Amino acid sequence: MTTQEKATRYLIPFYKRTPVTIARGKGCYVWDENGKRYLDMTSGIAVVNLGHRHPAVVRVLKKQASKIWHISNLFYQQPQADLAETLIQKTFDGMVFFANSGAEANDGALKIARLWGNKQGKSKVIALQQSFHGRTIATISLTGQEKYKQGFDPLLGEIAFVQPGNIQELQKTWDDKVCAIFLEVIQCEGGVRALPQEFIQEISRLAREKNSLIIIDEVQTGMGRTGTLFGYQQFGIEPDIITLAKGLGNGFPIGAIIVKRAIAQSMPVGMHASTFGGNFLACAVASSVLNTLNETFLEKVKKTSSFFHSQLTALRQQFPDLLVDIRVYGLMIGIDLAPSLAVSEVIEAFLQRGILTLRAGENTLRLAPPLTITKKEIQIFLQTFQAILKEKRGEKQ
Ligand SMILES: *Cc1c(COP(=O)(O)O)cnc(C)c1O
Repeated sequence: MTTQEKATRYLIPFYKRTPVTIARGKGCYVWDENGKRYLDMTSGIAVVNLGHRHPAVVRVLKKQASKIWHISNLFYQQPQADLAETLIQKTFDGMVFFANSGAEANDGALKIARLWGNKQGKSKVIALQQSFHGRTIATISLTGQEKYKQGFDPLLGEIAFVQPGNIQELQKTWDDKVCAIFLEVIQCEGGVRALPQEFIQEISRLAREKNSLIIIDEVQTGMGRTGTLFGYQQFGIEPDIITLAKGLGNGFPIGAIIVKRAIAQSMPVGMHASTFGGNFLACAVASSVLNTLNETFLEKVKKTSSFFHSQLTALRQQFPDLLVDIRVYGLMIGIDLAPSLAVSEVIEAFLQRGILTLRAGENTLRLAPPLTITKKEIQIFLQTFQAILKEKRGEKQ
Protein backbone atom coordinates (compact mmCIF):
# COMPACT_ATOMS: atom_id res chain seq x y z
CA MET A 1 0.00 0.00 0.00
CA THR A 2 1.12 3.54 -0.65
CA THR A 3 1.27 6.00 2.25
CA GLN A 4 -1.94 7.60 1.05
CA GLU A 5 -3.75 4.27 0.81
CA LYS A 6 -2.51 3.24 4.25
CA ALA A 7 -3.52 6.56 5.79
CA THR A 8 -6.97 6.32 4.23
CA ARG A 9 -7.39 2.83 5.63
CA TYR A 10 -5.98 3.32 9.12
CA LEU A 11 -6.40 6.97 10.12
CA ILE A 12 -9.74 8.27 11.40
CA PRO A 13 -11.09 10.40 8.54
CA PHE A 14 -11.22 13.71 10.44
CA TYR A 15 -8.96 15.48 7.92
CA LYS A 16 -9.58 16.41 4.32
CA ARG A 17 -6.03 15.92 3.08
CA THR A 18 -4.29 17.29 0.03
CA PRO A 19 -3.09 14.27 -2.02
CA VAL A 20 0.59 15.03 -1.47
CA THR A 21 2.91 13.05 0.82
CA ILE A 22 5.51 15.37 2.30
CA ALA A 23 8.86 13.74 2.97
CA ARG A 24 11.31 16.49 3.97
CA GLY A 25 11.80 20.20 4.34
CA LYS A 26 14.46 22.89 4.41
CA GLY A 27 13.89 26.60 4.98
CA CYS A 28 10.87 27.78 2.96
CA TYR A 29 10.66 24.60 0.89
CA VAL A 30 9.30 21.08 1.34
CA TRP A 31 9.60 18.05 -0.93
CA ASP A 32 7.14 15.25 -1.55
CA GLU A 33 8.05 11.57 -1.68
CA ASN A 34 8.70 11.84 -5.43
CA GLY A 35 11.14 14.70 -4.98
CA LYS A 36 8.78 17.44 -6.21
CA ARG A 37 9.55 20.74 -4.47
CA TYR A 38 6.93 23.09 -3.01
CA LEU A 39 7.30 26.64 -1.74
CA ASP A 40 5.71 26.53 1.70
CA MET A 41 3.50 29.57 2.30
CA THR A 42 1.85 27.82 5.27
CA SER A 43 4.64 26.99 7.78
CA GLY A 44 2.39 24.06 8.73
CA ILE A 45 -0.29 26.60 9.80
CA ALA A 46 1.97 29.24 11.36
CA VAL A 47 4.12 26.73 13.25
CA VAL A 48 7.48 26.49 11.50
CA ASN A 49 8.11 30.23 11.78
CA LEU A 50 11.90 29.90 11.47
CA GLY A 51 11.59 27.63 8.44
CA HIS A 52 12.02 23.88 8.24
CA ARG A 53 15.04 22.41 10.01
CA HIS A 54 16.42 25.72 11.26
CA PRO A 55 20.10 24.88 11.99
CA ALA A 56 20.26 26.47 15.49
CA VAL A 57 17.12 24.62 16.57
CA VAL A 58 18.24 21.29 15.09
CA ARG A 59 21.57 21.65 16.94
CA VAL A 60 19.88 22.24 20.31
CA LEU A 61 17.43 19.37 19.77
CA LYS A 62 20.23 16.92 18.94
CA LYS A 63 22.29 18.02 21.92
CA GLN A 64 19.38 17.68 24.36
CA ALA A 65 18.32 14.34 22.81
CA SER A 66 21.68 12.88 23.73
CA LYS A 67 21.37 13.99 27.40
CA ILE A 68 17.84 13.26 28.72
CA TRP A 69 14.30 13.51 27.29
CA HIS A 70 11.88 13.15 30.13
CA ILE A 71 11.45 13.10 33.88
CA SER A 72 8.20 14.10 35.56
CA ASN A 73 7.26 17.54 36.87
CA LEU A 74 7.89 16.10 40.33
CA PHE A 75 11.48 17.24 39.71
CA TYR A 76 13.19 20.46 38.67
CA GLN A 77 14.49 20.70 35.08
CA GLN A 78 16.87 23.38 33.91
CA PRO A 79 15.56 23.87 30.33
CA GLN A 80 12.04 24.39 31.74
CA ALA A 81 13.15 27.02 34.28
CA ASP A 82 15.34 28.75 31.67
CA LEU A 83 12.50 28.91 29.14
CA ALA A 84 10.07 30.29 31.73
CA GLU A 85 12.57 33.02 32.65
CA THR A 86 13.04 34.01 28.99
CA LEU A 87 9.28 34.11 28.36
CA ILE A 88 8.73 36.38 31.36
CA GLN A 89 11.59 38.67 30.31
CA LYS A 90 9.90 39.05 26.93
CA THR A 91 6.31 39.55 28.18
CA PHE A 92 5.27 40.78 31.65
CA ASP A 93 5.92 40.02 35.30
CA GLY A 94 4.27 36.64 35.66
CA MET A 95 4.69 32.90 35.91
CA VAL A 96 4.46 30.11 33.34
CA PHE A 97 2.78 26.72 32.99
CA PHE A 98 3.85 24.43 30.14
CA ALA A 99 1.40 22.36 28.12
CA ASN A 100 1.74 20.55 24.79
CA SER A 101 -0.61 22.34 22.42
CA GLY A 102 -2.69 25.44 21.89
CA ALA A 103 -5.98 23.88 22.93
CA GLU A 104 -4.37 22.56 26.08
CA ALA A 105 -2.92 25.97 26.91
CA ASN A 106 -6.34 27.61 26.44
CA ASP A 107 -8.05 24.88 28.42
CA GLY A 108 -5.58 25.50 31.27
CA ALA A 109 -6.08 29.26 31.04
CA LEU A 110 -9.82 28.73 31.40
CA LYS A 111 -9.25 26.56 34.48
CA ILE A 112 -7.05 29.27 36.00
CA ALA A 113 -9.66 31.94 35.25
CA ARG A 114 -12.43 29.84 36.85
CA LEU A 115 -10.29 29.03 39.92
CA TRP A 116 -9.61 32.74 40.30
CA GLY A 117 -13.16 33.85 39.51
CA ASN A 118 -15.17 31.33 41.50
CA LYS A 119 -13.57 32.59 44.72
CA GLN A 120 -15.37 35.88 44.05
CA GLY A 121 -18.55 34.40 42.66
CA LYS A 122 -17.57 35.07 39.03
CA SER A 123 -17.77 32.19 36.58
CA LYS A 124 -19.01 33.72 33.34
CA VAL A 125 -16.63 33.97 30.39
CA ILE A 126 -16.90 36.22 27.34
CA ALA A 127 -15.57 35.01 24.00
CA LEU A 128 -15.86 36.48 20.52
CA GLN A 129 -17.75 35.44 17.42
CA GLN A 130 -15.48 34.07 14.63
CA SER A 131 -12.85 33.17 17.22
CA PHE A 132 -10.87 29.95 17.25
CA HIS A 133 -9.38 28.51 20.44
CA GLY A 134 -8.88 24.79 19.76
CA ARG A 135 -10.70 21.48 19.45
CA THR A 136 -11.14 20.09 22.98
CA ILE A 137 -14.63 20.27 24.47
CA ALA A 138 -13.65 23.31 26.58
CA THR A 139 -11.99 25.13 23.68
CA ILE A 140 -14.76 24.48 21.13
CA SER A 141 -17.06 25.88 23.79
CA LEU A 142 -14.95 29.06 23.65
CA THR A 143 -14.83 29.09 19.84
CA GLY A 144 -17.28 31.40 18.08
CA GLN A 145 -17.81 29.31 14.93
CA GLU A 146 -20.71 26.86 14.64
CA LYS A 147 -18.89 24.51 12.25
CA TYR A 148 -16.50 23.41 15.02
CA LYS A 149 -19.24 22.87 17.62
CA GLN A 150 -22.01 21.12 15.76
CA GLY A 151 -22.93 17.72 17.19
CA PHE A 152 -20.89 17.96 20.40
CA ASP A 153 -23.60 19.18 22.78
CA PRO A 154 -23.74 19.71 25.65
CA LEU A 155 -20.82 22.13 25.63
CA LEU A 156 -19.38 24.07 28.57
CA GLY A 157 -21.79 26.54 30.17
CA GLU A 158 -21.62 30.23 31.02
CA ILE A 159 -19.79 31.35 27.92
CA ALA A 160 -21.30 34.41 26.24
CA PHE A 161 -20.38 35.48 22.71
CA VAL A 162 -19.94 39.03 21.45
CA GLN A 163 -19.50 40.19 17.86
CA PRO A 164 -15.97 41.68 17.45
CA GLY A 165 -16.28 45.45 17.21
CA ASN A 166 -19.77 45.62 18.74
CA ILE A 167 -19.09 47.81 21.79
CA GLN A 168 -22.76 48.02 22.82
CA GLU A 169 -23.12 44.26 22.89
CA LEU A 170 -19.85 44.01 24.82
CA GLN A 171 -21.10 46.45 27.47
CA LYS A 172 -24.44 44.68 27.76
CA THR A 173 -22.84 41.23 28.12
CA TRP A 174 -20.10 42.25 30.56
CA ASP A 175 -21.80 42.02 33.95
CA ASP A 176 -20.32 41.53 37.44
CA LYS A 177 -20.25 37.74 36.98
CA VAL A 178 -17.59 37.84 34.24
CA CYS A 179 -14.30 36.30 35.37
CA ALA A 180 -12.55 36.58 32.01
CA ILE A 181 -12.67 37.49 28.35
CA PHE A 182 -10.87 35.33 25.78
CA LEU A 183 -9.69 37.00 22.60
CA GLU A 184 -7.26 36.89 19.69
CA VAL A 185 -6.04 40.40 18.79
CA ILE A 186 -6.04 39.16 15.19
CA GLN A 187 -8.53 36.40 14.45
CA CYS A 188 -6.53 34.17 12.15
CA GLU A 189 -8.73 31.12 11.48
CA GLY A 190 -11.69 33.51 11.51
CA GLY A 191 -10.40 35.28 8.37
CA VAL A 192 -7.21 37.21 9.40
CA ARG A 193 -9.00 40.19 10.96
CA ALA A 194 -7.64 42.47 13.68
CA LEU A 195 -9.99 43.65 16.41
CA PRO A 196 -10.84 47.37 16.05
CA GLN A 197 -8.78 49.66 18.30
CA GLU A 198 -11.83 51.24 20.04
CA PHE A 199 -13.15 47.76 20.81
CA ILE A 200 -9.83 46.77 22.38
CA GLN A 201 -9.80 49.95 24.46
CA GLU A 202 -13.29 49.21 25.72
CA ILE A 203 -12.21 45.67 26.66
CA SER A 204 -9.33 47.12 28.72
CA ARG A 205 -11.69 49.59 30.42
CA LEU A 206 -14.41 47.03 31.22
CA ALA A 207 -11.86 44.50 32.51
CA ARG A 208 -10.65 47.11 35.01
CA GLU A 209 -14.13 48.28 35.95
CA LYS A 210 -15.56 44.78 36.42
CA ASN A 211 -12.37 43.21 37.77
CA SER A 212 -12.20 40.51 35.06
CA LEU A 213 -9.17 38.88 33.45
CA ILE A 214 -8.05 39.55 29.89
CA ILE A 215 -6.87 36.31 28.32
CA ILE A 216 -5.19 36.72 24.96
CA ASP A 217 -4.81 33.66 22.76
CA GLU A 218 -1.43 34.21 21.10
CA VAL A 219 -1.22 30.66 19.80
CA GLN A 220 -1.13 31.85 16.18
CA THR A 221 -0.35 35.59 16.48
CA GLY A 222 2.63 34.99 18.76
CA MET A 223 6.27 34.07 18.11
CA GLY A 224 6.99 36.86 15.65
CA ARG A 225 4.22 35.93 13.24
CA THR A 226 2.62 39.38 13.20
CA GLY A 227 5.86 41.39 13.26
CA THR A 228 6.31 41.77 17.01
CA LEU A 229 7.19 38.86 19.26
CA PHE A 230 3.56 38.76 20.46
CA GLY A 231 0.53 40.22 18.72
CA TYR A 232 -0.86 42.07 21.77
CA GLN A 233 2.29 44.23 21.87
CA GLN A 234 0.95 46.19 18.87
CA PHE A 235 -2.50 46.85 20.29
CA GLY A 236 -1.94 48.78 23.53
CA ILE A 237 -3.65 46.14 25.67
CA GLU A 238 -2.31 44.62 28.86
CA PRO A 239 -3.25 40.95 29.23
CA ASP A 240 -3.51 39.09 32.53
CA ILE A 241 -2.93 35.78 30.78
CA ILE A 242 -1.56 34.84 27.37
CA THR A 243 -1.46 31.41 25.78
CA LEU A 244 1.17 30.19 23.31
CA ALA A 245 1.82 27.11 21.17
CA LYS A 246 2.24 26.80 17.37
CA GLY A 247 5.48 28.73 16.68
CA LEU A 248 6.91 28.26 20.17
CA GLY A 249 8.56 24.95 19.29
CA ASN A 250 8.95 25.60 15.54
CA GLY A 251 7.23 22.23 15.02
CA PHE A 252 8.19 20.52 18.25
CA PRO A 253 4.95 20.24 20.29
CA ILE A 254 4.82 22.70 23.20
CA GLY A 255 2.24 25.09 24.63
CA ALA A 256 2.47 27.65 27.41
CA ILE A 257 0.27 29.74 29.68
CA ILE A 258 1.76 32.97 31.02
CA VAL A 259 -0.11 34.39 33.98
CA LYS A 260 0.40 37.64 35.88
CA ARG A 261 2.34 37.02 39.07
CA ALA A 262 -0.38 37.84 41.65
CA ILE A 263 -2.90 35.51 39.99
CA ALA A 264 -0.31 32.79 39.37
CA GLN A 265 0.82 32.85 43.01
CA SER A 266 -2.77 32.34 44.17
CA MET A 267 -3.03 29.00 42.34
CA PRO A 268 -3.20 26.04 44.75
CA VAL A 269 -0.74 23.15 44.49
CA GLY A 270 -2.17 20.12 42.71
CA MET A 271 -4.95 21.83 40.78
CA HIS A 272 -3.40 21.49 37.33
CA ALA A 273 -0.72 19.30 35.76
CA SER A 274 0.60 17.72 32.57
CA THR A 275 2.72 14.63 32.05
CA PHE A 276 4.63 15.88 29.01
CA GLY A 277 4.33 19.61 29.68
CA GLY A 278 7.70 21.31 30.02
CA ASN A 279 9.81 18.30 29.05
CA PHE A 280 13.53 18.72 28.32
CA LEU A 281 13.33 18.44 24.54
CA ALA A 282 10.42 20.85 24.04
CA CYS A 283 11.85 23.46 26.40
CA ALA A 284 15.39 23.34 25.00
CA VAL A 285 13.97 23.74 21.49
CA ALA A 286 11.62 26.60 22.47
CA SER A 287 14.47 28.50 24.15
CA SER A 288 16.52 28.34 20.97
CA VAL A 289 13.49 29.50 18.95
CA LEU A 290 13.04 32.50 21.29
CA ASN A 291 16.73 33.36 21.15
CA THR A 292 16.61 33.33 17.35
CA LEU A 293 13.58 35.65 17.30
CA ASN A 294 15.60 38.63 18.55
CA GLU A 295 15.13 42.34 17.74
CA THR A 296 17.23 42.17 14.56
CA PHE A 297 15.22 39.20 13.32
CA LEU A 298 11.92 40.94 14.03
CA GLU A 299 13.06 44.12 12.29
CA LYS A 300 13.68 42.03 9.22
CA VAL A 301 10.23 40.45 9.46
CA LYS A 302 8.70 43.95 9.47
CA LYS A 303 10.68 44.88 6.34
CA THR A 304 9.69 41.67 4.57
CA SER A 305 6.10 42.33 5.58
CA SER A 306 5.97 45.84 4.13
CA PHE A 307 7.59 44.63 0.90
CA PHE A 308 5.02 41.84 0.61
CA HIS A 309 2.22 44.28 1.44
CA SER A 310 3.18 46.81 -1.24
CA GLN A 311 3.55 44.09 -3.86
CA LEU A 312 0.17 42.59 -2.98
CA THR A 313 -1.44 46.03 -3.13
CA ALA A 314 -0.06 46.46 -6.64
CA LEU A 315 -1.40 43.05 -7.64
CA ARG A 316 -4.81 43.97 -6.26
CA GLN A 317 -4.87 47.09 -8.41
CA GLN A 318 -4.38 44.79 -11.39
CA PHE A 319 -7.19 42.45 -10.32
CA PRO A 320 -9.75 44.54 -8.37
CA ASP A 321 -12.51 42.25 -9.66
CA LEU A 322 -10.93 39.15 -8.05
CA LEU A 323 -9.07 40.47 -4.98
CA VAL A 324 -11.59 42.15 -2.71
CA ASP A 325 -9.40 43.00 0.29
CA ILE A 326 -5.88 42.42 1.57
CA ARG A 327 -4.87 42.38 5.23
CA VAL A 328 -1.21 42.08 6.17
CA TYR A 329 -0.06 41.76 9.79
CA GLY A 330 3.61 40.88 9.78
CA LEU A 331 3.63 37.64 7.80
CA MET A 332 0.07 36.68 8.63
CA ILE A 333 -1.76 37.62 5.47
CA GLY A 334 -5.42 37.38 4.49
CA ILE A 335 -6.63 37.98 0.94
CA ASP A 336 -10.40 38.08 0.46
CA LEU A 337 -11.36 36.66 -2.91
CA ALA A 338 -14.42 37.68 -4.91
CA PRO A 339 -17.40 35.29 -4.53
CA SER A 340 -16.85 34.23 -8.16
CA LEU A 341 -13.42 32.87 -7.25
CA ALA A 342 -13.53 30.00 -4.72
CA VAL A 343 -10.53 29.89 -2.41
CA SER A 344 -10.37 26.08 -2.85
CA GLU A 345 -9.81 26.61 -6.62
CA VAL A 346 -6.98 29.04 -5.95
CA ILE A 347 -5.31 26.76 -3.40
CA GLU A 348 -5.50 23.90 -5.94
CA ALA A 349 -4.01 26.10 -8.69
CA PHE A 350 -1.12 27.06 -6.40
CA LEU A 351 -0.55 23.41 -5.50
CA GLN A 352 -0.33 22.44 -9.18
CA ARG A 353 2.34 25.12 -9.56
CA GLY A 354 4.30 23.95 -6.53
CA ILE A 355 3.13 26.36 -3.83
CA LEU A 356 1.35 25.47 -0.57
CA THR A 357 -1.24 27.97 0.70
CA LEU A 358 -3.99 28.07 3.34
CA ARG A 359 -7.55 29.26 3.70
CA ALA A 360 -9.36 31.13 6.48
CA GLY A 361 -12.85 32.44 7.20
CA GLU A 362 -15.34 32.15 4.32
CA ASN A 363 -13.40 32.82 1.12
CA THR A 364 -10.05 34.15 2.31
CA LEU A 365 -6.68 32.97 1.07
CA ARG A 366 -4.33 32.88 4.06
CA LEU A 367 -0.56 33.06 3.80
CA ALA A 368 1.76 32.32 6.70
CA PRO A 369 5.18 31.68 5.16
CA PRO A 370 8.26 31.06 7.30
CA LEU A 371 9.38 34.42 8.72
CA THR A 372 12.72 33.80 7.02
CA ILE A 373 11.18 34.05 3.53
CA THR A 374 13.23 36.20 1.13
CA LYS A 375 12.18 38.73 -1.50
CA LYS A 376 13.10 36.21 -4.17
CA GLU A 377 10.61 33.66 -2.88
CA ILE A 378 7.95 36.34 -2.43
CA GLN A 379 8.47 37.28 -6.11
CA ILE A 380 8.02 33.65 -7.13
CA PHE A 381 4.78 33.54 -5.17
CA LEU A 382 3.53 36.81 -6.70
CA GLN A 383 4.35 35.83 -10.29
CA THR A 384 2.51 32.57 -9.77
CA PHE A 385 -0.46 34.37 -8.21
CA GLN A 386 -0.58 36.76 -11.15
CA ALA A 387 -0.57 33.87 -13.63
CA ILE A 388 -3.36 32.13 -11.73
CA LEU A 389 -5.48 35.28 -11.57
CA LYS A 390 -5.03 35.93 -15.30
CA GLU A 391 -6.05 32.41 -16.08
CA LYS A 392 -9.07 32.54 -13.73
CA ARG A 393 -10.18 35.88 -15.18
CA GLY A 394 -10.03 34.34 -18.66
CA GLU A 395 -12.04 31.34 -17.50
CA LYS A 396 -14.68 33.43 -15.78
CA GLN A 397 -15.30 35.72 -18.73
C1 LIG B 1 -4.17 26.57 16.26
C2 LIG B 1 -4.83 27.40 17.29
C3 LIG B 1 -5.27 26.85 18.51
C4 LIG B 1 -5.23 25.37 18.79
O1 LIG B 1 -3.94 24.90 18.88
P1 LIG B 1 -3.68 23.30 18.86
O2 LIG B 1 -2.21 23.20 19.12
O3 LIG B 1 -4.11 22.81 17.53
O4 LIG B 1 -4.48 22.72 19.95
C5 LIG B 1 -5.81 27.70 19.46
N1 LIG B 1 -5.92 29.01 19.22
C6 LIG B 1 -5.51 29.58 18.08
C7 LIG B 1 -5.64 31.06 17.90
C8 LIG B 1 -4.96 28.79 17.06
O5 LIG B 1 -4.60 29.34 15.91
